[in-house]
Amino acid sequence: MSDVSGSELRALMARVPSVEKVMASAEFAALIVEYGRTQVLGAVRESLDRWRAGAQSGDASVSALDVAQLKSSVEAALRRRNESRLRSVFNLTGTVLHTNLGRALLPDEAVQAVMKALTQPANLEFDLGTGKRGDRDDLIDDLICELTGAEAATVVNNNAAAVLLTLSALASKKEVIVSRGELVEIGGAFRIPDIMSRAGAKLREIGTTNRTHLKDYEEAIGPQTALLMKVHASNYAISGFTKEVALDEIAPLAHTRGLAVAVDLGSGTLVDLSQWGLPRETTVRETVEAGADIVTFSGDKLLGGPQAGLIVGRRDLIAKIKKHPLKRALRVGKLTLAALEPVLQLYRAPERLTERLTTLRLLTRAAGDIRLAAERVQPALQHAVGERYAVTAEPMFSQIGSGALPVDVLPSYGLVVKTVDGKRGGRQLLALEKMLREMVRPVIGRIADDALRLDLRCLEAADEAELIEQLKGVRA
Ligand SMILES: *Cc1c(COP(=O)(O)O)cnc(C)c1O
Repeated sequence: MSDVSGSELRALMARVPSVEKVMASAEFAALIVEYGRTQVLGAVRESLDRWRAGAQSGDASVSALDVAQLKSSVEAALRRRNESRLRSVFNLTGTVLHTNLGRALLPDEAVQAVMKALTQPANLEFDLGTGKRGDRDDLIDDLICELTGAEAATVVNNNAAAVLLTLSALASKKEVIVSRGELVEIGGAFRIPDIMSRAGAKLREIGTTNRTHLKDYEEAIGPQTALLMKVHASNYAISGFTKEVALDEIAPLAHTRGLAVAVDLGSGTLVDLSQWGLPRETTVRETVEAGADIVTFSGDKLLGGPQAGLIVGRRDLIAKIKKHPLKRALRVGKLTLAALEPVLQLYRAPERLTERLTTLRLLTRAAGDIRLAAERVQPALQHAVGERYAVTAEPMFSQIGSGALPVDVLPSYGLVVKTVDGKRGGRQLLALEKMLREMVRPVIGRIADDALRLDLRCLEAADEAELIEQLKGVRA
């Protein structure tokens, strides 16, 4: 198969420039400034090796190599290598708090605060009043207590960490009573029974999957009991012949027996969402008022902040939690605290929350507004996908996501792409889904009912312009 004769090959090889000559050439000077000598040298060697291997194996496409050609291949390789692996995408899945796409998007106030924390020293653990060492929790505790009505608070890496730490600090070597209807698994890696054993606590299951009564709690309490625990059924609903014991019944029982109640709220909203027509969810304050001694919840679900786990509750229990050695291992960094504080401050003006808090703005966005966006994007998408596909603007339903209110959906609007030729529709849809996923800024939708569906709820103005621009540059 060799297209290159021995003498031709020798002639080609003789014309390959030396590495030294390439590196000293004017063409490479700018690359060396941008990427540094070490990287450029490595990429030049790789490119030359590849070229030589191609020439030797008789690859017909290999011809005499010049420096300009080498430069463009080296430059492309360096650019690819230095691209960030964490890339911005368009979340058109219809799930607002999408765990795999990074959950809550943060408001500008949080972005500014993080930027400052990244570039300027701060009083993270420095008491400006006394000039002595301070506690990082002090920066944000009061604000969390103000918004939840709790006596004390602390913050850790995420809600899974909050639950692990709470159980480790309050129930190690003791029993924790949980209803069988609440033995939740969240996204595979977080399962209540597993966390329980990791924390060294013994799970005491009570009741049945569908029904648990107050007397089940009563009868399970013994000398080994440390906690009664309730877990929010975040990602499932049990319906039909069911009975769950409310917190305001469990709490008095626990308290008369000298025990505490811990509630894992999961999403943990700070405001009543039903005031904006969203499904109602018990707030953290209501949970505290109903008698919970400890409440744990996520920072990046309905709260709309950075990844974090908030623990609020009784002062003595929070003090115990903060003293546990795991607290040091699970603590949050300054970037998290910097982002969380301004997000929490937004809750002081609940009447402006739907404009200012990104998550709530997206969740409350009117279907009519999303419809207009769908109509504006439709021509650009139709152009990009070509005439083998038909793109229409249609109503659809978004989800809140991240285990919040799994049974409720939000009326939305989006683009539905179907194949014109029904045959091999499945394969064509997969090809289309892949094409969109491989764009400069990947477009992530979902395939359902023989169509690719792009829900535009999370496509706000600036993103809409960017998406249209990107689609215009494509020709299927
Ligand atoms: C989401 C969730 C968790 C895990 O929270 P992360 O912040 O993702 O660690 C734990 N418990 C419940 C009930 C949840 O909904």
